[in-house]
Amino acid sequence: MRHRQPRARPAGNRAERASGQSIMAAILRALPAESGVRKIEYEGPKIALYTDSPRHLLEHNEIVSGLVNTIKKRIVLRTLEESRKDEAAARRELAALIPKEAGLQSAFFDAATGEVTLEAKRPWLLQRGASSFSAAAAAEATGWIPRVKRAPTFQSSTMQAINHSLKASAADRARQLKRIGEDIFRPRISQRTDVSLFSLGGFGQVGRSCMLLATPESRVLVDCGVNPGGRSPAETFPRLDWLGTTLEDLDAVVIGHAHLDHTGFLPVLCKYGYRGPIYCTEPTLPMMNLIQLDAIKVAAAQGRTPVYSEADVRQIMKQAITLPYGTVTDISPDVKLVLANAGHIVGSALCHFHIGNGDHNFVYSGDLKFAKSALFEAATWNFPRAETLLIESTYGAKEDIQPSRQEVEALFVKLVNETLAGGGKVVIPIPAVGRAQEIMMVIDAHMRAGRMTEAPVFTEGMITEASAIHETHPDYLARELRQKMLETDENPFGSEYFTNIEHPGARDEPLRGGSPCIIMATSGMLEGGPILEYFRELAPDERNLLLFVSYQVNGTMGRRVLDGSRQAQLVGRGGKVGVVNVRCRMEKLDGFSGHSDYNQLMSFVQRLRPKLRRVLVNHGERRKSENLASAIRRLYRIPAHNPQVQEAVRLF
Ligand SMILES: [Zn+2]
Repeated sequence: MRHRQPRARPAGNRAERASGQSIMAAILRALPAESGVRKIEYEGPKIALYTDSPRHLLEHNEIVSGLVNTIKKRIVLRTLEESRKDEAAARRELAALIPKEAGLQSAFFDAATGEVTLEAKRPWLLQRGASSFSAAAAAEATGWIPRVKRAPTFQSSTMQAINHSLKASAADRARQLKRIGEDIFRPRISQRTDVSLFSLGGFGQVGRSCMLLATPESRVLVDCGVNPGGRSPAETFPRLDWLGTTLEDLDAVVIGHAHLDHTGFLPVLCKYGYRGPIYCTEPTLPMMNLIQLDAIKVAAAQGRTPVYSEADVRQIMKQAITLPYGTVTDISPDVKLVLANAGHIVGSALCHFHIGNGDHNFVYSGDLKFAKSALFEAATWNFPRAETLLIESTYGAKEDIQPSRQEVEALFVKLVNETLAGGGKVVIPIPAVGRAQEIMMVIDAHMRAGRMTEAPVFTEGMITEASAIHETHPDYLARELRQKMLETDENPFGSEYFTNIEHPGARDEPLRGGSPCIIMATSGMLEGGPILEYFRELAPDERNLLLFVSYQVNGTMGRRVLDGSRQAQLVGRGGKVGVVNVRCRMEKLDGFSGHSDYNQLMSFVQRLRPKLRRVLVNHGERRKSENLASAIRRLYRIPAHNPQVQEAVRLF
């Protein structure tokens, strides 16, 4: 992308100030005197009401929800900066107000918003009426508005680092949010609605997902990934160069989920000066942070130069605006965004764009699981309106059918039991994010129910970090799991079956301890990470089981071993190449995938309400995208096609 001066915005002109001021004046008139609201300001896509006595509005939330219904904008309650106690004093007040049984673990004060995030072992005790604690009273006493979260079993260093950088940038962020709000609520220049989609990556391929949604008024970049299999920059990165758009022209970047093929190029946008808003769900933010930082390490370990630095990743944190599922948010004068559960990984979202005055509604599936798993509900399928759907097709070929959940779980239990009974160890190479937590939930449930032989389960790699992000965001998990986490002491992520191996020195028990056990370690394709040591030591023993639960990409060590290679060459400590004789049993399980299989993709299209006018297909090898599009045309009689990279599609 070229770099140039920001395009002229009408922001700050008389008309805009007048329209902004009239909204604010209307809000002020509607509020009762007891609300103590002294100032109203934009805070990104929301309107913030600043009060010096938050109690009244917190106790009567019907007042704010009534306002939201009338003015159709998101409204948040904030405290005036001068009414906030300093952190030490506020901590003392909170310690006195929060009952001991709630198990408060940490409190994070965000000066950009005046919110204090309380992480407690028993968050349900801090809900309204559950104990002596009252959020309204705490806000009144401290000047900080509390948000309550469940504390994870192990403190996440990712979340701590994020909080640290949020803290350091509070003043900057407050200014930036105000500017973003002025930009979003600027008056429309054009009343015309036409909508185009420019495919920049991830069409006819898996990797570098990226597209631009454009209207005469706005430009929204959706996803910004890299293609890990690309051989040249033109194949690896999204084709942002093709449009001649500058970074300053973008109104927003929207990120569906944290995986690298959807977020791996985002730090580069920040590196080259993108300073606008980045929208995603709350768990997607720490999750992509973890994944992007890991990619730097992996690149360095493989002798490649990373295309971005840690500072660029940190910059994302400062520009991110997190949205809950199901909330309509203005992101430009003519585009509203709703994120909805996609069932793929924690925080993964379908993106619903409402364009113009409802002239066109575009749904982007992102990576989609249209079936319930241990961690998530099946993807959301009902929207108020939807004319165009863009759907992924990772498993878009007719033969891409996965076994049912019951079948795959039964087979998993059988394989584990057989191995443990024979005195062997089960070694599972696993990607840290998503699959690891899913398998942990399955193991915990079956061991607890007595179907799986009880044995210690060792985890190593970024698994605990990723688990902590799941634990602190129960709202994004499947209903039963969420209930457990938010209402009871039960926590399958912190189950007593699991032991985390924190450093290589602690590997003795799983490696050389005589008793059977299960080991889950990263990386998922035997391409580096702690799994290699377990593989080296345990693969030569025929009593052990090497169990693959995720897709093995062509060209990886995992794929070679799975395809029957009995001698694996590994670079050992000190750079010496050694040969591992693979004599252990080997199995591969399909059906734990975070993607929909062919049948699930088809039933999603059929189920989606309201009925679609058009379907576009992306995120799949060309043959698979083609097959899915043609099946949709034939069976459902909906126009469908699969664009390639660098195509422009007129949506409306
Ligand atoms: Zn994904």
